[in-house]
Amino acid sequence: RAIVRELGRIKEQHEKDLQLISGAIPPQETDPTDFKRRFLKKIRKLGEGNFGMVELCLYDPKGDQTGELVAVKSLKTENESSNLRREISTIRNLYHENIVKYKGICNDEGGTNIKLIMEYLPAGSLKEYLPRNKSSIDQKRLLLYAVQICQGMEYLGSQNYIHRDLAARNILVENESLVKIGDFGLTKSIKDDKEYYKVTEEQDSPVYWYAPECLINRKFYKASDVWSFGVTLYEIMTYCDRENSPPQVFLQTIGRSHGQMTMARLVEALEKGWRMPRPDSCPELVYTQMRRCWSHAPENRADFKSLMKEFEFLLT
Ligand code: ADP
Ligand code: MG
Repeated sequence: RAIVRELGRIKEQHEKDLQLISGAIPPQETDPTDFKRRFLKKIRKLGEGNFGMVELCLYDPKGDQTGELVAVKSLKTENESSNLRREISTIRNLYHENIVKYKGICNDEGGTNIKLIMEYLPAGSLKEYLPRNKSSIDQKRLLLYAVQICQGMEYLGSQNYIHRDLAARNILVENESLVKIGDFGLTKSIKDDKEYYKVTEEQDSPVYWYAPECLINRKFYKASDVWSFGVTLYEIMTYCDRENSPPQVFLQTIGRSHGQMTMARLVEALEKGWRMPRPDSCPELVYTQMRRCWSHAPENRADFKSLMKEFEFLLT
């Protein structure tokens, strides 16, 4: 058996030699997803959230500024590195028009400080893009973004993932007519035989985007993403106006100074049926869709397919 193995090894080496000679595979460039730290040049910071930081970099292995622009995500504190590893193993399985593309990883010398390399979306997130470009974006455009987010979410759900952080800050803009879902930092995979994911850690949760079952029982269903989509739609219809952001609207309603009690107040208000009001500029028919996302019981909410149909109908 040892001889067979040895023969196999020799054959493999011979094939590699042949490829090298014929130039079929350039030396050391066999894995296009392996980005070398020394060729990655920081240009500027693109943004940061609770855990991560994203920078615009030029990946320039030839060293002559001809390289490509990429978005590079790393963690603010290194001890969270297993979270980024989980995010990487999620995003590298996702292939959809409306989901940000994975390009590869960059490991440093020791391999402790991993980075995620993604395609760079020049216009940033909806949270930056919408306020800045308000005058050139009409309501039809906003609904087009809503459809695209639903398409990406429908795909994500079909792969048995729950995003858990759907919000305007995590929707990235490729150009004026294409948006993509990003930030899979909180995304969980649900087993085929399960309907929900139960979280154990919950600090820094985006509570104003969360459905009652997430806040009360820490249970996340696909329908919990639908609730968050409704909040995201609210943000979109206000062009991500800071004065009308979901935390602002909620805190204006219950008052600010509850400290530790804020979360309990939020739950109480939602359980009593309080919902964010229709933004001034938002058509009734669009607000109706938000309300379909905010049914108290997950099973009574709209799903992404039916939302998509409604928006497409509104667009024609
Ligand atoms: P976090 O997990 O820390 O929230 P995100 O992945 O949401 O990190 O990225 C933080 C911010 O960086 C985003 O809100 C967005 O403004 C910017 N950003 C993230 N990815 C990209 C990208 N691929 N292209 C351009 N900007 C990006
Ligand atoms: Mg984010």
